[in-house]
Amino acid sequence: AAKAAGKNQYLRFQPEMMTALVRRTDMEAGLRLAVDNDEITVNYQPIVSPVRGEVAQFEALARWDRNGERVPPSQFIPTAERSGLISAIGMHMLQESFTQLRAWLAGSPERSLAVNVSGVQLRERDFADDVLRLAESCGMNPAQLVLEVTESVFFDHDDHVIEQLGRLRHAGVSVALDDFGTGYSSLGRLQDLPVDAVKIDRSFVSMIRTGAEKLPILSSMINMAHSLGLTVTAEGVETAAQAAYLTDLQCDLLQGYLFSFPEPDTGLEIALLRSADAVDALEGMRLRR
Ligand code: C2E
Ligand code: MG
Ligand code: MG
Ligand code: MG
Repeated sequence: AAKAAGKNQYLRFQPEMMTALVRRTDMEAGLRLAVDNDEITVNYQPIVSPVRGEVAQFEALARWDRNGERVPPSQFIPTAERSGLISAIGMHMLQESFTQLRAWLAGSPERSLAVNVSGVQLRERDFADDVLRLAESCGMNPAQLVLEVTESVFFDHDDHVIEQLGRLRHAGVSVALDDFGTGYSSLGRLQDLPVDAVKIDRSFVSMIRTGAEKLPILSSMINMAHSLGLTVTAEGVETAAQAAYLTDLQCDLLQGYLFSFPEPDTGLEIALLRSADAVDALEGMRLRR
């Protein structure tokens, strides 16, 4: 009977497993071609300083249009990590964004570029040196570069990862903890992590509704980060009420659809204008209160 059940189970599972495997292999093959053919492009989303009233940073986000259809990063980044293609994609993202934002970055030393980095890249032998060499060859000042990592890169206490981040920070690069608050470790662990900034995950920002009561969690996160000397960015800011609330809590930087969607570099002027309008509107709203 056990054998029969096992056999049934096997028959029931096989088609699904095959479909998943085929889909995965297909995605990987497509991604390999995309890398070879330079089909991975970069979009930029402005990150504004409500105090300075201007765009302080752009985050580079990978885009893949496969046969005219956009594949979301949540689908292709995990495939890229599993297959090792993330290394080539990651370097491509750095090279493209260094080049495309060069003029904007040259406008002020206060401006910076944020690029997402996978733990797979940090485990490479020469990641830090490769990044610094690329920056130099592109005329990019390392002090204007922010590398965004998630908490998962610290899970296995990998000495090599810590060393790579140390080399980068020593050269002036900042490290930001992305999706802050969604990880498994406590707020208290923040002080042990080699980071310069945190990006509060948008799930916390979305808790801010008009007329909502105080959100002690948010103010604790911001105050704790500030007491450790870290810069705080809020992700996923979609409403003026959220922006005003976060500004009152002294959040340093704001990012979200309120200011702009991610845009290709050709759309940067538009993104800048739209975020300037949103900052103005926000200022007006704060003054009226
Ligand atoms: P992330 O680094 O946390 O990036 C922020 C994500 O939130 C982006 O999604 C962005 O488009 C989206 N977003 C921005 N503002 C808002 C908003 O107001 N509301 C909402 N609902 N969403 C907003 P995207 O571009 O789909 O990227 C998803 C994730 O994929 C990124 O999350 C990052 O973890 C990963 N990713 C993207 N590009 C790269 C890359 O070049 N390398 C690596 N390793 N990961 C990347
Ligand atoms: Mg990010
Ligand atoms: Mg994030
Ligand atoms: Mg995220």
